[in-house]
Formats: sequence, C-alpha cells, structure tokens
Amino acid sequence: MSLNETDLQDALKKYFGFSQFRGLQEEVIKSILSKQNTFVIMPTGGGKSLCYQLPALMCRGTAIVVSPLIALMKNQVDAIRSISSQEGIAHVLNSSLNKTEVKRVKDDIVNGVTKLLYVAPESLTKEEYVDFLKEQEISFLAVDEAHCISEWGHDFRPEYRNLRSIIKRIGEDIPIIGLTATATPKVQEDILKNLGMNDANTFKASFNRPNLFYEVRPKTKNVDADIIRFVKQNAGKSGIVYCLSRKRVEELAQTLEVNGVKAVPYHAGLDAKTRAKHQDMFLMEDVDVVVATIAFGMGIDKPDVRFVIHHDIPKSIESYYQETGRAGRDGGEGHCLAYYSYKDIEKLEKFMSGKPVAEQEIGHALLQEVVAYAETSMSRRKFILHYFGEEFDEVHGEGADMDDNVRNPKKKHEAGDEVQLLLEVVSKTGEIYKAKEIVNTLVGKSNALILSHKTNEQSFFGQGKSREDKYWMALIRQVLVAGYLKKDIETYGVIKLTEAGKSFLVNPQSFMMTDDHVYADTTDESIITASKSANKGGADDKLIGMLKDLRKKVAKKLGVPPFVV
Ligand code: ADP
Ligand code: MG
Repeated sequence: MSLNETDLQDALKKYFGFSQFRGLQEEVIKSILSKQNTFVIMPTGGGKSLCYQLPALMCRGTAIVVSPLIALMKNQVDAIRSISSQEGIAHVLNSSLNKTEVKRVKDDIVNGVTKLLYVAPESLTKEEYVDFLKEQEISFLAVDEAHCISEWGHDFRPEYRNLRSIIKRIGEDIPIIGLTATATPKVQEDILKNLGMNDANTFKASFNRPNLFYEVRPKTKNVDADIIRFVKQNAGKSGIVYCLSRKRVEELAQTLEVNGVKAVPYHAGLDAKTRAKHQDMFLMEDVDVVVATIAFGMGIDKPDVRFVIHHDIPKSIESYYQETGRAGRDGGEGHCLAYYSYKDIEKLEKFMSGKPVAEQEIGHALLQEVVAYAETSMSRRKFILHYFGEEFDEVHGEGADMDDNVRNPKKKHEAGDEVQLLLEVVSKTGEIYKAKEIVNTLVGKSNALILSHKTNEQSFFGQGKSREDKYWMALIRQVLVAGYLKKDIETYGVIKLTEAGKSFLVNPQSFMMTDDHVYADTTDESIITASKSANKGGADDKLIGMLKDLRKKVAKKLGVPPFVV
C-alpha cells in the first residue's frame, strides 16, 4: 500500500472526524500499515485504540483485537459502528453469542465486511474459532492491555499467556501489535517475550498528562465534608471517588446522596447486575459521581471524567497514576485530589504483615514512594514522571504549574540540628525502637527508652519537647524518605540508621524540613452523615430508634451507661 501523510490525515478525518494525530499515533499507524510487529506504550487516555482502529479500517482483511473485558469491547464496537453505515464493520466474538449470531459474524468476515473483530482471550482458545480464523484474511492482531500477560503488572490474566501459540496457529506471519499503559521495564520485557516480538518497533510516549492537576490534602476527620464541598463546587461534572474498603464506599455514597450529590457505589461485592447498572448510570450521566473501590476502572471509557478523588491513598504510585489517568481523557481539565494521612499508610502496612518477607519488602518500598509523593514539596508532576524514568522540566515543561506544590509552594525551615538529635537518639539507644517510642522520649512523654537505657537518661528525655509529637513524627517520615533512616521489615517497623545517616552524624548537614499544612480538625456540622439521616425514615430505622430509647431507659433504671445494656 502506498501511503502519504495526506492519505492518513484524510482517513483520520473521514473515519473519526479528528483533524490531527495525537503524539505518536501517526508513527505507530505507519508501522502497523507496513506489517511490522509494533509495541505501543502510552498512558491511559493517550489514544491507543485509534492506533489499531484506523489501520484496521484501511487494510484489507479483518484485524483481530484481543481485549480483557467485554464491556471495553462493547464500548469500542459501538463507537466504530457509529461511524459506518455497515453494522458488520465491527463485531465481538464471545461465549454469549448463539449459533445464528456466530454465523452472522462469520459471514461478515468471509464477505470482507468486518474490519475489526474483538475477542476475549478465552474465546480465542476455542478450536472452532481458531479453525475458522486461520482460513480468513487477517490484517493484524492487536493485543490491548497487553500488561495482562505479565505477573509483574497490576492486572495479570493467565489466559493472556496462551496468546502466542494461538496466534501462531491462526497464521505464522500475522503482524502483532501490543498496547499497554504500563511503563515499568519488567512488564515491557515480559510482553515482548511472551508475544514473541522482540523485533517489534517500540513506541513509548511521554507519561506526562499536562491537563491533569495534582493535589494532596491532609486527611482530617472532615474529609467527607471536604469531598462534598469539592463535588458541589464542581456541580454537574463527572467524577470518581476511590475508597479502599467496600464498607467505606457504601457509606460515602450514601453520605453524598443525602447531601444532595447524585452518587452511586461500585465494588466487587455488588452483584453483576447492580454493577452494570451503576456503571451505565455514570456513563449516561444519570449520576455525577461513582464512589468505588479499584474494581471500577479498566472498562471505563468516559472521556470527560473531570475529577478523581482518592479518599484513601493507594498502595503504589503506579496505581495512583492509573487511577487518576481516568480523568480528562478528552484532553480537558482533570483534577486529581488525594487525601493523605500517615495512619492510612500504617493500615496498608498492617495488611501486608502476614505476607512473605520478600513481598513485604516490595510492598513497603512502593508505599514509601507514596509517602514521599504525598509529603513532597517539589513539583508532583516531576515526582511522578521521575518514577517512570522520565525527565521533566518543572519550570517550562508542559503542565508545569498544574499542581498544588507549584501553585502554593510549601514553606520549609532549617531542621539540621533536629535531625542530628533524632539520629543520635536512634544510634545511642541501639537501633531497637519504633518511631512512636523515639518520639515519646523526645517530647518527654513516656520513659520506655529511659528504663532500658539509664545511661542516656539525661541526654534524651524531653530534649525535643519544644516541638509537638506530630512534628517529630513528620520529621522522622521526611528523614526516612531522605534516606538517613530506614524501617526494618523483619522486626516490623524498628527504626535503623542507614549509611547516609551514619555519615550525617559525623558530618552534620543542613536539612530543609517541609512545614506540614496545619488544618483545623473540627467537625463540620453542616454536613449530614448518612447514619444520622438514616434515622429519619424507614421501618427498620424506627425500630432501631425505639430499641435505643428502650436501652437508655433500662440503663437509667439500672444506673449504668447505655452501652452496657
Ligand atoms: P487509551 O486506550 O490509550 O487509554 P483511548 O484510545 O481510549 O485511550 O482514547 C482516549 C480518548 O482520546 C478517546 O475519547 C478518543 O476518542 C480520543 N482520541 C484519540 N485520538 C485522538 C485524536 N487524534 N484526536 C482527538 N481525540 C482523540
Ligand atoms: Mg485503551
């Protein structure tokens, strides 16, 4: 096929109505059109689908697209059908089709009508389909969400492992296109190896999402009120609020609802029908907000999600990037707001504590990066991109001013002497204490260290009492992130000195500590909590109310508090 730039532009305009390619799309498409194996690494929202859809529409034969989720495939098929007068231009082949439907799909392929055939990996293993497809003209085979092939990715699917052998059976020479939004080298290596395409032309786009605004707020007990305020300020816009637990998802969805925000919950504990219904309500904009666990995400192709809020901080930067990546996929604004409290990190650490040490170490290292991200005073965009091995110019780079730290720089102050004191306490008490015990000693709150270290009694107890314990905790975290101290995994959280810490002791240096934001920790009475409102109506709620009153009366007679009865 002889093609020039204008042909491609025309095709883009004709099929999709877009006037320009985004990023590497054009190069990728050229590589595919020249029948070469092609590997595409682009962040979520980068426009990967178009990379295989456009060449599929332009080529002879049918392109097979492997994708992990039925919902994802259906969305895409609907979108493609809407640009063509022929419904058969795109089909999904899956186990739910009856005989007549399968025959129609096959006829459309044989007649050259079908340009895109979407299949789930498990359907592709069916003998009947393989036997049929190997007789057809296949333009290329695209493996979307290719990271599912790797155990190192965040969404491993064993069925993806068989793809290579099936592709071979359908046709030795069919070009393969792998697409993913996962940027870590280990996953990329796995994909190339498992799909047998080490010779692939690789295209890696920048992971910078300049239209996303990154913000971290401290998580106080007013977090729900703060979220409601945020959502109301963004009334009419679509957004996702992520929570860690199903219980919290339910509670928060209710709280939003009773405060006049149209919201639905989404988590794996809901039955499939409810999940599908809630997802549709979000897509159709019957509700503005989905409160969800991470179960909600990969299948969501809603380009105008305007905010992604993390009620709970996720367990890695990679997850955070993926989840926030669902905002602003149309290139418009996208606000990524995370609530952060160190307590949540400790909770996540506790979840890991039963796991093998090696796994804990990885988990802990990933969490440490999350802490560093949340507490950093540098450009958050620079931080994230650095994590993916990318340089970013925090002054002139695209989207440089799109984060809270750049817009409102945090204050810092010299804390070199305090770091020196802290490291000394750790060192002289034998590196056997956890953060809390060290802090208690510094502020003179508990004498745990003194009992076991009488000799150091005078030197440490209460020496840091001009500062609050919260201050010392924050300093310890910043010193951990800076690498002068480390937490021991085997002994669960005991603080030790690193080599850098030891040399700091010998050669004291400057240490610029970031001032923690101070937020008033009062309860906002203007917000109705779901449980309060629940008492207003419903037979069950009335019954509960009556029981409560009864308990109070009995307790009063007995002269004990109600919770005893
Ligand atoms: P990815 O799969 O990489 O996460 P998608 O393929 O779902 O991203 O594309 C994200 C959005 O960008 C879609 O709404 C798509 O229509 C849009 N898009 C893709 N390419 C272009 C383009 N060249 N011009 C305008 N919009 C585009
Ligand atoms: Mg995609």
